[in-house]
Amino acid sequence: MADAEAHTRTTLDQQIPRQRATSEPPTPFADQWLMQVLTAMGCRRSGRKWQCPAHAHTEAHSTSLVIGRRDDDRGAWLHCHAGCSVTAVLRALGLRPSHLQRPPRVSPPRYVQLKALRREWPQLKHPGGHPGAGGYRHEAWHPYGPDHAKQRLRRPDGSKAIRWESRNRRGEWVPGLLGAREADLPLYRQDEVGMAAAAGETVVLCESESSCDALHGVYATTWAGGAGSPPLEKLARALKGVDVVVVPDHDDAGLACLDRLLGALPTAKVLLGRPGEDARDLYVRVGPDRFTELLAAAADAEGSRQAD
Ligand SMILES: [Zn+2]
Repeated sequence: MADAEAHTRTTLDQQIPRQRATSEPPTPFADQWLMQVLTAMGCRRSGRKWQCPAHAHTEAHSTSLVIGRRDDDRGAWLHCHAGCSVTAVLRALGLRPSHLQRPPRVSPPRYVQLKALRREWPQLKHPGGHPGAGGYRHEAWHPYGPDHAKQRLRRPDGSKAIRWESRNRRGEWVPGLLGAREADLPLYRQDEVGMAAAAGETVVLCESESSCDALHGVYATTWAGGAGSPPLEKLARALKGVDVVVVPDHDDAGLACLDRLLGALPTAKVLLGRPGEDARDLYVRVGPDRFTELLAAAADAEGSRQAD
C-alpha cells in the first residue's frame, strides 16, 4: 500500500514544476503557501493552530500545528504541539524539508489537486477556538494575502457570521483587521490570479469565498466586502488583461453587483446559473467537467451565457 502510494506520488511529481534553482533566494511567503495548502485540503483551523496532517486522522482532537515565518524571512517553520516531527508533517503533505524555504512553484489549490491531498478531517473539540462564543460553529478560514484571514462561522440558528484575524508585527495572529479596511485587502487568492494570467488561463470572479473554494481545479477569486461593495477600481487593476468570467449569484443583489462589475471590467464574460444559484450551486449541479466546458464556452462567447 505504501509502495503504491509512493509510486503514485512519483508520477504526480512529474506534473509539478521542478524545484527552484538553489541559487534563488528562499521566499518569505512559504508560510502563506503552506497555510493555503492546508486550507485547500479542507483542514480546520482554530486561532493560529491548524489540524495536523500527520496525526489528525481519527476522533475529535484539538488543533496542534502552528506555522510561522522565520525571523530572517528565509522561509517557514512549523511545529506540531502533539509531538509530530517536522519531517512527519512534511511527509503527510508530500513535501521535503527544502520546501520550507522554497515551496513548489505551483498554486496551493493546484498542488493539493495534483497530489490528491484533499480529504475529510475530524471535527474539532472546540470549533472556532472560542468555546465561549455562544455556540458559533467554525466553517472555514479564507486567507487574504499573507497577513489577514476571514473566518466564516455559523450561528446556532443557522445564520452566517464572519470575523477577521490579522498577523501583527511579531507574526502572531490576533483578532480584527489591525486598522486595515476590507477595501484595502488584496483580492481573495490574488496570487493565483497572477499565476492564471501568466498562464493565459481563465479566472472566475464570483461573489463569495465559499464559492471560490468549491470550484476545484478552477482559478477563482472574489473580494472581501461582499456583493454590496465590489472594489471596482481594485478589480479593474488586478484583473487587467486577464480572461475573466463572472459567475454571479443569480438573485437581485447578485445581478445588480454584476452590472457594476461589468462596468469596471468591460471585456469580462458572464456565466449565469439558474435563478437562485450561485457559482458553487452551479458547479455542484453540473459537475466539474461540465462546469469547465461551460466556462470555456462563456470565455469564448460574445455575450452572456445561461447554464442550462
Ligand atoms: Zn501532529
